[in-house]
Amino acid sequence: MVEKVIPIRSDEGTGRTQSITETIVELNTSNKDARGRALRDLRISVTDRCNFRCTYCMPKEVFDKNYPYLTHNELLSFEEIARLTNIFASLGVEKIRLTGGEPLLRKNLEVLIEMLAKIRTSTNQTLDLTLTTNGSLLRKKAAALKAAGLQRLTISLDGLNDDIFKKMNDVDFPVTDVLDGIAAAQEVGFNNLKVNMVVKKGINDHEIIGMAKHFKGSGITLRFIEFMDVGSSNGWDMSQVLPSQEVANRINAIFPIEPIEPNYPGEVAQRWRYVDGSGEIGFISSVTQTFCHECTRARISTDGQLYLCLFANEGFDFKTMLRSGRSDLEIANAIMSTWSERNDHYSEIRGSNTLGSSSSQKVEMSYIGG
Ligand code: SAM
Repeated sequence: MVEKVIPIRSDEGTGRTQSITETIVELNTSNKDARGRALRDLRISVTDRCNFRCTYCMPKEVFDKNYPYLTHNELLSFEEIARLTNIFASLGVEKIRLTGGEPLLRKNLEVLIEMLAKIRTSTNQTLDLTLTTNGSLLRKKAAALKAAGLQRLTISLDGLNDDIFKKMNDVDFPVTDVLDGIAAAQEVGFNNLKVNMVVKKGINDHEIIGMAKHFKGSGITLRFIEFMDVGSSNGWDMSQVLPSQEVANRINAIFPIEPIEPNYPGEVAQRWRYVDGSGEIGFISSVTQTFCHECTRARISTDGQLYLCLFANEGFDFKTMLRSGRSDLEIANAIMSTWSERNDHYSEIRGSNTLGSSSSQKVEMSYIGG
């Protein structure tokens, strides 16, 4: 038994450090997992519901009115999310991404953002607080999100052609409303917006050049995501994946691009810029150019399970810990001992025999957070 002191920061925004002393068994203070990867990012799914039925994420056939969505009591409350975030921040997490489901469907989300914006990292910095949305409610929510302290936004948009986009979102949602949401975000002062486009071969890949042209020179970074085999319901197979290299080749043939250095180690997207200086684009290539070796992300599901990999099939129950009177220190200790044993590197072994039938039980992205 060793005695440790873990600094847990107050969530009152004072930057004050409360030192909590408790006798614990062992704490891996190095913040590294079994593969030497530090814990730096946390994605939090605030709802498992979405108003889109993107065929690659929440296909209608599975996510219909009979789908067993979580009840309100099963969701982590804002207080529980803020408490967990505070603990994660004390352990080295610097970046928080709110996601879902569609995070803007969670009622009064700006109240949560305000709470998270007050939390400080272990080096007394504000958290890098960001959110991924389908943009459908942005016109309505952008000002409140900005005022609450949200720093950055990523908007998903899979094409500019209405027929193609509606085929992807499968709820007849028009492109113009998403573009209007993006405009609303810009009007209230969100700079450095990112737009994510999932590319499905044969479905929306002919939208690549149009999307590049539209966002080139706009100050918005367009990122192309390879269609991934996340979850168990999207009918993924390799023939529907258009490798990022192919996307880059197509763009380069029309608008010359060149690779640039990552902003920080472990950045998910590979950065490229237009040679004519009109901005940058990114590629998220989790299928063809895996980045497990530098993955610093953990995920909290809508009901408070900790997931160590997007492709995991099991989580660790932190909601019960939160609701059973455990101290911050006990929870911090549990997080670090869980993280220290993390050995996940799914994308690197995708397709190998070791996956076997377990790959069919992977947790859905809407629940774990994209
Ligand atoms: N509803 C929000 C949105 O649309 O951005 C947040 C949640 S969504 C699960 C987060 C991101 O994951 C989106 O950019 C979405 O396009 C992406 N995504 C979902 N399923 C995917 C898949 N099978 N392959 C690649 N990206 C996927």
